[in-house]
Amino acid sequence: MAKNWYPVIDYLACTECGTCVDFCSHSVYNKAKAPSPVVMQPGNCIDRCHGCGNKCPAGAISYVGDDTGWTPPNGECSAKKSVDCCRGGTCEEDSSKAVLVEYLYLDLNTCDRCIGADAVLEEVLGSIAPALEAAGYTMRLQKVQIATKELAEHYRFLASPTIRVNGQDICGPVAENTCGCCGEISGTDVTCRTFAYKGQAYEVPPKAMLAEGILRAVLGMVQPVCDCGEYSLPENLKNFFEGKAVKTGCCPEGTCG
Ligand code: SF4
Ligand code: SF4
Repeated sequence: MAKNWYPVIDYLACTECGTCVDFCSHSVYNKAKAPSPVVMQPGNCIDRCHGCGNKCPAGAISYVGDDTGWTPPNGECSAKKSVDCCRGGTCEEDSSKAVLVEYLYLDLNTCDRCIGADAVLEEVLGSIAPALEAAGYTMRLQKVQIATKELAEHYRFLASPTIRVNGQDICGPVAENTCGCCGEISGTDVTCRTFAYKGQAYEVPPKAMLAEGILRAVLGMVQPVCDCGEYSLPENLKNFFEGKAVKTGCCPEGTCG
């Protein structure tokens, strides 16, 4: 099982041809969502396999943990456009106008707020990405299902769903309330994110909130916040993963991660 090697899709470049989903024989992708590529079991991905990336006609696939120097045979290497956050404590100015939007979520089958935020984000990006691209920005959208504790730790995930622009959370301080959907998935009491906008709290972020947040981050209207500090997996998420593992019969003791 690969814990730190798995494909991430640039959904703004992806044409939803379904080639990657068809090609992979390790059940990394959710076949039920085909032709849309949804990475469902990242832990099944084989270290240093570039199979789906070699087949992608749009160059829309890159790999977490890839230090091989691989570049896709088709299209432009998405990974080349990536912008790392300042995990090492050394923020550097980026003048390339590369914009990486990350959507990090727990579930897109059952959870109403993950599904709702995903739809709003797509709609907002559909509206503003053409204007930003006309202004010389290159946009990428990666969606990552935080399916395991290891992935949560890798992404320093605090609450679901989370939207980051170039590594910065655009939805303000984390606030949560009880999420019945994720409770159903895990069989435990789970809290998920709420979104504060103009004095009200929403379980699905309003379009205007996301549009403002993305534009402010892209145009440098907010001071980047470094997340170099210590991270520990929130107890709420730990309970979710353990409960889900038990409920799905992955491991009766809830210790498989
Ligand atoms: S890299 Fe290989 S194992 Fe991983 S998803 Fe692609 S084809 Fe499947
Ligand atoms: S092969 Fe590339 S373009 Fe086709 S669905 Fe997969 S990521 Fe998208």
